[in-house]
Amino acid sequence: MTDKVDVSHRSDRLRRTDQRCLWHPFTPMRLWLADEPVVIERGEGFWLIDTDGRRYIDGVSSLWCNVHGHRVEQLDEAIRGQLDKIAHSTLLGLACDVSIELAEALLPVASIGGELTRVFYSDSGSEAVEIALKIAYQYWQNKGQPKRRRFIALREGYHGDTVGSVSLGGIDLFHKIYHPLLFETIFVDSPCPQFHPAGENAGEAVLDQLDVVMRTHRGEICAVTVEPLIQGAGGMLTHARGFLQGLRELTRRHDVLLIADEVATGFGRTGRMFACHHEGVACDLMCMAKGLTGGYLPLAATLTTEEIFEAFLGEPTEGKTFYHGHTYTGNALACAVALASLKRFQTERVIERMAPKIDLITRRLAEMRPLPNVARTRQCGFMVGIDLARADGKPFDLAARTGAAVCQAARRCGIIIRPLGDTVVLMPAPAMDAETLDRLLAGVTETIDAFF
Ligand SMILES: *Cc1c(COP(=O)(O)O)cnc(C)c1O
Repeated sequence: MTDKVDVSHRSDRLRRTDQRCLWHPFTPMRLWLADEPVVIERGEGFWLIDTDGRRYIDGVSSLWCNVHGHRVEQLDEAIRGQLDKIAHSTLLGLACDVSIELAEALLPVASIGGELTRVFYSDSGSEAVEIALKIAYQYWQNKGQPKRRRFIALREGYHGDTVGSVSLGGIDLFHKIYHPLLFETIFVDSPCPQFHPAGENAGEAVLDQLDVVMRTHRGEICAVTVEPLIQGAGGMLTHARGFLQGLRELTRRHDVLLIADEVATGFGRTGRMFACHHEGVACDLMCMAKGLTGGYLPLAATLTTEEIFEAFLGEPTEGKTFYHGHTYTGNALACAVALASLKRFQTERVIERMAPKIDLITRRLAEMRPLPNVARTRQCGFMVGIDLARADGKPFDLAARTGAAVCQAARRCGIIIRPLGDTVVLMPAPAMDAETLDRLLAGVTETIDAFF
């Protein structure tokens, strides 16, 4: 009895202290302060456990990064083993064994046909994108094309929260207020058939639009940035089939670089190791972060081709050097666990085993669609969006925060999920077992059904 009292006393104290001392990311803090936060203390496989001992399925992979589950023996051991050697040493002017081994392992996994040959490490997806756009810009400067200064990106795109990556972002709710601080990007429509006026022909329509933009701005464009196959934070917007491949052909024809932001889609999330692989697309720059360490530690990487790398070679006085780097670039603990995560993809055949589970999600979503308040669903592998709307099909008043309320209600079914507006997002870990996955989908269906 005393134990229980102690536990709940501690939980209350932690909740109050959180509300007094923290400022949470992407969180309207006034609402947070009026709420009772769940305080997570432990993880176990695909479950999160709070300070009161309540268990929840981690339905969005701890914000889209967890891959193999929590407390996975091989991954835990990789960090402990590295800790017995060194936690961190700089990559500025020094090399470090484990960052070398990771780069060597990562390149063939990310490439279609050996095109990606260089790894530039950083610490977050935003930085991976920031680095890609700076490399793309400086590449053309170094090649003697100073007029190339502009980027093309998709509306509803999300590439991170630093000022450079926000400049490529197309989500008004997040990005609009910063407009005066940003560089000017050329935006084209999102090729999502459910929302584009051209419907099933959205892909061709947007490619036509891109063709016009690239002709109009010939010699001025550095690169096109794209979240391949599906735009995550924009609302799980799945793209028309063939769009990515068409974009690759177009960028080649117009001699423009292609930056694939695989931060969300990488490491199995779409049913292949990388989304680009679905359409056989070799990009010029690939950004990865979230799943790189299996969701254990912050680590990001920007991969690029030898051709781009070579444009940065020269005498120090020529000004071709890429002067960019972060203190923790290539952190040893993070590289060690990333390496262990890559190994586990092989030993556990994570990707191969996803196929029947992807079908399971598809079936469960088909059962969900007849619910009166489910307007649309979208799925790309393990990435799922469920649009909630009024029974007459009209959107809810955004101020009612219906999506957030539904996700809050799911906690009573032992499920942690987080919406994007009125889109319920599911992003289970690629290694989640079929039983837990089914429980997650059944629980979400039940929650939506009971909520309205
Ligand atoms: C999450 C995300 C980012 C930003 O990554 P952080 O690690 O949060 O900085 C960039 N691009 C995409 C597509 C993302 O989903």
